[in-house]
Amino acid sequence: MLIYNNMKKYNFNAGPSILPREVIEQTAQAVQDFNGIGLSILEISHRSKDFQPVIPEAEALFKELLDIPEGYSVIFLGGGASLEFCMIPFNFMEKKAVYLNTGTWANKAMKEAKLFGEAVEIASSKDRNYCYVPKNYEIPTDADYFHITTNNTIYGTEIRRDIDSPIPLIADMSSDIFSRPVDVSKYACIYGGAQKNLAPSGVSFVIVKNDALGKVSRTIPTMLDYRTHIENGSMFNTPPVLPIYSALCTLRWIKEQGGVPEMQRRAAARAELLYGEIDRNKMFRGTADVEDRSYMNIDFVMSDEYKELEAEFMAFATSKGMVGIKGHRSIGGFRASCYNALPLEAVQALVDCMKEFEKNH
Ligand SMILES: *Cc1c(COP(=O)(O)O)cnc(C)c1O
Repeated sequence: MLIYNNMKKYNFNAGPSILPREVIEQTAQAVQDFNGIGLSILEISHRSKDFQPVIPEAEALFKELLDIPEGYSVIFLGGGASLEFCMIPFNFMEKKAVYLNTGTWANKAMKEAKLFGEAVEIASSKDRNYCYVPKNYEIPTDADYFHITTNNTIYGTEIRRDIDSPIPLIADMSSDIFSRPVDVSKYACIYGGAQKNLAPSGVSFVIVKNDALGKVSRTIPTMLDYRTHIENGSMFNTPPVLPIYSALCTLRWIKEQGGVPEMQRRAAARAELLYGEIDRNKMFRGTADVEDRSYMNIDFVMSDEYKELEAEFMAFATSKGMVGIKGHRSIGGFRASCYNALPLEAVQALVDCMKEFEKNH
């Protein structure tokens, strides 16, 4: 953790967001002098012998850490998760797809699919400002795929299990990738932007089941066809080399720390600590339904009696070194994003802040 002006900063930013300190340092080192070759990673060819092993190692670590079965490819692309919102229907939708509407990102994904065919909203939690994950819906079997957003970064809800779908399941895991083991065999595709849990912005990851591709009749522009990037090992054109290198450093870090089960243990410990305080402290309340609470983005507000103290708590927490806890404008209050790299110590500092604020009032 960095110390500026003699004060520790606890980084709860929602995205771009905290990365392991080692990853920042290794990235900085690669910018200065990559692999001791006397040149920056920024000024060498992506096909040079020094960069050449980076993408295969990142791919291999993805497969190892998530226990990805045979028959799947991992690719790294520019454009962010938002580009995948249109690449998914381009590559997978012939006529009809179904979407679970759990908030802003799910809506944006669905909007793109509507450009290509019939995108059906199978269920929605809009009626209560997306504070829960809809259940008890039936997935139609005549659609090409079912799209879910496993972690709703803005509304603080999460689907923390791998659901069974009778049709190909596609998931946006931008903000919870590597926070829990995933049964990849249940998905046709998993994708996300890197800047929440993996790397700086500028790269997205796509895990795709090879035989789920090639089933649509439309012509796909070369760059938007997943097969182009699979066949070329994410090197069809110049890939975002620096974010991919940082992602590799994060993947190595996850492995060293004990892998995805250890990330899951830490996520649960952070969430228990913070939700425990939110539920205990009469000045605060959580916004998401308890059973659907996210481990990654913890949303809370001042309880009704203390509503007018919101700005005061914000200033108090900021004075104690908390960064990035302002809630998203669509729900207000506070959001503590607790991604993989966030130490428990940071959550403890926020909890101490909440306790002290309670004592002072
Ligand atoms: C941040 C986010 C996105 C958008 O990612 P970009 O890389 O900015 O396009 C999409 N989905 C989810 C769940 C997110 O958290």
